[in-house]
Amino acid sequence: MNDLVTKLEPALRNLLARAADLASSVHATLWLVGGVVRDLWLGVPVGRDVDLAVEGDVNQIAPLLANAWGGEIVARHPSFGTASITVGNWLIDLAQTRTERYPQPAVLPEVQPAPLALDLSRRDFSINAMAIQLVAQGNDLLPMPLFDPLGGATDLAARRLRLLHEQSLRDDPTRLLRGLRLAARLDLTPDTATMAQIQQAIAAHYLALLTPERVQTELCLTLSEPDPAAVVALADRWGVTYQIVPGLHWTPTMAERLARYRRNSARTANVVPAELVIAGLLLYDVSDDELMMFLRRYHLPNPVRRMLNDLIALRTQLPTIAASSSPSCLDTLLQPYSVAAIAVLHYATDEPIQQYIARYLHEWRLLRPPLNGDDLRRLGVPPGPQLGQLLRRLRAATLDGLITDRAMAEQWVRQQLVDS
Ligand code: ATP
Ligand code: MG
Repeated sequence: MNDLVTKLEPALRNLLARAADLASSVHATLWLVGGVVRDLWLGVPVGRDVDLAVEGDVNQIAPLLANAWGGEIVARHPSFGTASITVGNWLIDLAQTRTERYPQPAVLPEVQPAPLALDLSRRDFSINAMAIQLVAQGNDLLPMPLFDPLGGATDLAARRLRLLHEQSLRDDPTRLLRGLRLAARLDLTPDTATMAQIQQAIAAHYLALLTPERVQTELCLTLSEPDPAAVVALADRWGVTYQIVPGLHWTPTMAERLARYRRNSARTANVVPAELVIAGLLLYDVSDDELMMFLRRYHLPNPVRRMLNDLIALRTQLPTIAASSSPSCLDTLLQPYSVAAIAVLHYATDEPIQQYIARYLHEWRLLRPPLNGDDLRRLGVPPGPQLGQLLRRLRAATLDGLITDRAMAEQWVRQQLVDS
């Protein structure tokens, strides 16, 4: 396998060739590592995150590369020897090759520079511990053999997930969550020793030793997986779901809801971020108490918090929503809630309620009556609570089709003033 780099997009190959050239001028060596190598081997699309291992001084090389690429250094941890550079659509992570020592389980490791072979052996899974040296040949990369001292390619061919040493999950329990995502995405099965280590990590509650922030980061990554429900299904099979989100379980209904979302996601793509809808759909059947516990345990970003709190309230109102007899009734019911929670409700319900909520999201929610506050003032409505109330009633009448144009609206307002 020395043709793997030829499968990279030409633009990326060119960037990497320039990087290899520059690195060699300061006596450093660059290696393509991690997910990109794995995905190249599999022949699946390579994401926009590219990991490079650097045998050399990252603090010296990062500015050289950013400058040559016309990119921007967006993160830099000189004491860890890491830096991230954005260039075009790519995020290129540089990390000095290192060994790690975990002074205690689940804390961040102490790191020390080390050659690549040792760096690969401190990684999570064999399939993520392969590397390709970057060597420039003109504007392109020279094809180089796969450096795979830990047998990652054999494991990939057998669809095997294999941890690299016995204390791996104890050192860093996030690997359990990484393993779940990878195994679900690439349809991998842990080998016997890895499965035993997973079971031991679950029995010993290693995940509970992590800070909530670290667990949360992994959970967020799950939302961007091609099939987040498959990750939950596997978590259930491994018996770890309750340690991540109490009350969460895979069900066929969950999978159907997510599939429905996938088919129709364009409906809400411009109004709600996909991750927010997916989070809501995964958590839709978790009980109120358990969702409250989840909200207390993690410091979730405000839009997620609001969506979940609204969902707790909204899902109990489904019968009322279904029974609401007019667009204006529905508008009154839904108006206090975030669009994200309403979008989740819409994907979680069946026809005809689904269509009804969809019309609210796309039409009724956005409808403006033919007259605004200034128009009402001109028609003689005094400022104050009466004006606000008239505006709301005017909107309701417009929603229900009782008022269709400006002239009708003006007549309606005059009539209200006579009646009051
Ligand atoms: P993805 O396709 O999900 O991006 P990835 O393997 O590229 O997968 P990254 O989080 O980008 O995942 O990590 C890059 C590489 O760094 C991994 O392939 C692995 O070699 C190593 N790595 C990341 N996290 C850990 C960890 N917790 N423990 C050990 N090695 C890790
Ligand atoms: Mg990656």
